[in-house]
Amino acid sequence: MAKPIQHRNHKKALAHPIFKTLTQASDELELEAYVIGGFVRDYLLNRGLPKDIDIVAIGSGIDLAKATANLLSNNPKVAVFKNFGTAMLKSNEMEVEFVGARKESYDRGSRKPAVEDGTLEDDQNRRDFTINALALSINKENFGDLIDPFNGLEDLENKVIRTPLDPDITYSDDPLRMLRAIRFASQLDFMIEQNSLDAITRNRERIKIISNERITDELHKILLCKKPSIGFGLLHKTGLLPLILPELTALEGIDEIEGQRHKDNFWHTLEVVDNISKATDDLWLRWAALLHDIGKAPTKKFDKKIGWTFHGHEFVGSKMVYKLFKRLRLPLNDKMKFVQKMVFMSSRPIAISEDVTDSAVRRLVFDAGESIEDLMTLCEADITTKNPKKFKQYLNNFKKVRQRIVEVEERDQIRNFQPPVSGEEIMETFNLKPSREIGILKDAIKEAILEGEIPNDYEAAKAFMFEKAKKIGLEKV
Ligand code: ATP
Ligand code: MG
Repeated sequence: MAKPIQHRNHKKALAHPIFKTLTQASDELELEAYVIGGFVRDYLLNRGLPKDIDIVAIGSGIDLAKATANLLSNNPKVAVFKNFGTAMLKSNEMEVEFVGARKESYDRGSRKPAVEDGTLEDDQNRRDFTINALALSINKENFGDLIDPFNGLEDLENKVIRTPLDPDITYSDDPLRMLRAIRFASQLDFMIEQNSLDAITRNRERIKIISNERITDELHKILLCKKPSIGFGLLHKTGLLPLILPELTALEGIDEIEGQRHKDNFWHTLEVVDNISKATDDLWLRWAALLHDIGKAPTKKFDKKIGWTFHGHEFVGSKMVYKLFKRLRLPLNDKMKFVQKMVFMSSRPIAISEDVTDSAVRRLVFDAGESIEDLMTLCEADITTKNPKKFKQYLNNFKKVRQRIVEVEERDQIRNFQPPVSGEEIMETFNLKPSREIGILKDAIKEAILEGEIPNDYEAAKAFMFEKAKKIGLEKV
C-alpha cells in the first residue's frame, strides 16, 4: 500500500522563522525531524497556517525541544511530559509539540498503547488518518519535502477520510478515532471511506472505553461545525449515537394512529441545529438547539380528540438536560442553566406569537431576561416546515414578537427587572420582620407590573403597595 516518497516541495509552509531554528536544532543533535499532522493537512487544504505545530523526531523529541529552546532568543520554557515522551514549547504565537517517532501496540482493554522507538514510517502508521499522517521534512537535505506513504494528498484532493492501516485495527486500538473520523468529516466536509465507515459501525461498542470528557470534546467540535448535521448524521448512521446521546435517538421515528402522524423529531432537531448554526457560533445555544426537543420522547401521547401531544415536554426536557450534562461531564454551571432555560422556554414565543398581548410580552421578557435574543434565535431556527407559505407566516409572527419586545422594553424596562419597592422598604414602612407578608407584597407589585395594571415605576408601585397592604390587613406605622 505504501507509495514512494513524493518529492513535491512545500517550503512555503515552513516560512515561519521557528522552522529555521528547528532545523538548526535537529542538525546539532544529528537527528531527523518532520512536521506532521494537522499543520500539514491544514496547509495543504489552504485553511491557513495553524499556530499548532507537531514535530516528530527520529530520536528524542524531548532533547529536540530543549535544543530548540536554547537556540531561540526568547529562550522559552519547555514543558516535558516524561510519561508520554513528549515536550512542548511556546514561542511567540506558535505552540510546538515534540514527540519521538514511535511504534505502538495496543491492548484490547485500554487506549493506552505500549510504546517503543520507531522510524518515521512507524510513526505515520500509528496516525489516525492518511490525511493526518502527512509529514514535511525540516531537515537540511530535503527541507520542505512531503513524505506521504499512504497517498494522503490524494485523499485530501478527493475529500476522503481513510485510515493508514486496516480500519478495524485503527478503530479498535483507539476508539476515539471513530469520533475523530466523524468530526473531521463534519469539519472538512469529507466522506468517510466505506471500509472505514463499516469498521466504525462494527467497532461502535468499543466507544465505551473512552472517557466522557474526550467524547464531549469531539461533540463540541462537531457542534461548532458549519453544518453539524453531517456529524450527527454519521453518528446516527454508524450506531454510535445511541451509545453517546440516547436521548436524541429516542426522538427518531414517526408514529401513526388513526391516520394521524407526528414529525420525526430527530431529523427535525438536526435541521434546527443546522439552522441555528447559520445564526450563531455560540456553542451553548447550539447545545440548546440540539436538546430543545428531548422531552418529546418521554411525554409523547396519542389523544383521540387532538392527536399526538407532547405535554410538558419543555419542562421534562429541561430536567433531562441536567442528567445528560452530568453524564457527559459537561459543566454544571451557568452554561447548563442557560441550556435548561432555553429548553424550558422553547415554546413560549410560539405560544404568544398568534396573539401578542403586552402582558404576554412582558412576562416573556421577564422570564427570559438577558437570554431573550437567544430564545428568539432558537425559535426562528425551530421553523422547519417545508410549506413556504407557513414558513413565511411563522417567521413573520416572530418578527412581530421581536418588534413588540423592543416596544415593551422601551416603555417598561422589564429585561433586568428590579422590584421598584425593595423588601427593606416594605419592612420599614410596615414595621415588619422578615415574613411571608413581604413576599406577598413584592409578588403582587411584580404581577401588577407584568399585567400592565401599573407602570414599572416607584410612585405607582408604592401606591399599589399601600392598597394591597390594606387588603391583607397591614397598616403603615
Ligand atoms: P485539530 O488540532 O484541528 O483538532 P489535529 O489533526 O491537529 O486537528 P490533534 O489532536 O492536534 O489533531 O493531533 C495532532 C496529530 O496527532 C493528528 O493530526 C494525528 O496525526 C495525530 N493524532 C491525534 N490523535 C490521534 C489518535 N487518537 N490516534 C492517532 N493519531 C492521532
Ligand atoms: Mg492540532
